[in-house]
Amino acid sequence: MQKLIQSQREFFNTNTTKNLKFRIQQLNKLYYLLKDNEQLLFDAIYKDFKKSEFDTYVSELALVYHDIKDAKRNMYKWGRREKVATNLLNFPAKSYIIKEPMGVCLVIGAWNYPYQLSLAPAVAALAAGNTVILKPSELPAETSKVMAQLINSSFDPTIFKVVEGGVDETTELLEQDFDKIFFTGSTKVGKIVYKAAAKNLTPVTLELGGKSPAFVTKDCNLKISVKRLVWAKFLNAGQTCIAPDYVLVEKEIEQKFLNALKAEIEKEQFAIANHNYVQIINTDNFERLEKLIAPAKIFYGGTTDASERYIEPTILQNATFEDASMQEEIFGPVLPVLTYTNLDEAIAKVKRLPKPLSAYVFTSSAENREKVLQQLSFGGGAINDAVMHITNPKLPFGGIGNSGIGSYHGKAGFDCFTHPKSILQKATWLELPLKYFPHSKSRLQWIKRTMKLQ
Ligand code: NAD
Repeated sequence: MQKLIQSQREFFNTNTTKNLKFRIQQLNKLYYLLKDNEQLLFDAIYKDFKKSEFDTYVSELALVYHDIKDAKRNMYKWGRREKVATNLLNFPAKSYIIKEPMGVCLVIGAWNYPYQLSLAPAVAALAAGNTVILKPSELPAETSKVMAQLINSSFDPTIFKVVEGGVDETTELLEQDFDKIFFTGSTKVGKIVYKAAAKNLTPVTLELGGKSPAFVTKDCNLKISVKRLVWAKFLNAGQTCIAPDYVLVEKEIEQKFLNALKAEIEKEQFAIANHNYVQIINTDNFERLEKLIAPAKIFYGGTTDASERYIEPTILQNATFEDASMQEEIFGPVLPVLTYTNLDEAIAKVKRLPKPLSAYVFTSSAENREKVLQQLSFGGGAINDAVMHITNPKLPFGGIGNSGIGSYHGKAGFDCFTHPKSILQKATWLELPLKYFPHSKSRLQWIKRTMKLQ
């Protein structure tokens, strides 16, 4: 690992990556590598957890392709020196910000969208002129293998290298000195990464998880709200970091809402055979999820099959904040439905939990919408929709508090792998004497005046 990092650092120090043409070449190489090998990528992920070609394209590859195109289109604009005004005190001078790549970056991926979560940060890092070591999650073993095979046989390891492995390999990587660490995964491991990074004062971006609430008020458009909620929750069998984790519905429409949920799930016919559903990633997660389904609270679903790692879309009714399903991020196809009569009280209860990665409000009322937006702190979210905010690259994507540090996608991704180096460039034809000895009252007055403090 040390040798690999050393070789990347030596290459970075040649300044080659600072050249925009070079960066575009790397992005093109990655683009065609993925395009030309799509079938391999589809086959690998199907082996891992039976994710269909449609879902893999829409929720993984399309986002990576889009990120590559977006970065290529905007790289010059994002990366050029940014002129800023100079304050009077520094006259005569000009001021600007140099967008400096950070250097050797470590990207650690999560398993639930194994291509997107590994490759999108790598694209941002390469676009910003860095070298990258990518450690995909080991849980989807086939996707990890195919990414390693493709990337390691096409890229110079001093620019972009995949290192496969689990806890041991990641721990060893984290002992090394990187210029930036970008981690996607659980809050628990995020803390391990943060601690390891602190040793070298390495800057981090942590994309973590949490329990993302969905508020449903009685004045919402029920039909559309339920349709969008059901899609967002059961996409990838609920194994989505920004899936609505639980619903808080206004008591008055509880029964109507539950019935509409049931009808929509039945209409969608979620099944692996229909290519719109996936397996639970492994037995540990399957068993963990089974324990969250309290039989007495099942309103819909509840069927499981251990041999297939299958859990039916499941709705829990009369859920409370004390239930097992409300003690941890669900990260599976189980949706607890809680009720409220007073929105302020409901928000106050959510505020007692760690800050979530996302929050959603289904409502026609501006007052209700603003209540949630202004009172609750969360990474990002949507009004009258769920999950889809991730598809707009103009919206920085990331958490707050326990759900993460920093953000990416689009320009935010470029920025998160870039150091803004601020420069004051002074002219030499004039030197104002104000700051020099001897100090006097009148000089102090002038300083105050030029700093507009008077
Ligand atoms: P995880 O934290 O178990 O694993 C993430 C990565 O960390 C993997 O590459 C794994 O190999 C590595 N890792 C695991 N244990 C480690 C240890 N002890 N020391 C060092 N490295 C270790 O997370 P996961 O199960 O892959 O993903 C699920 C979590 O990720 C959920 O909480 C989900 O919400 C979150 N997530 C967040 C985002 C986001 O964009 N914010 C996206 C997807 C998933």
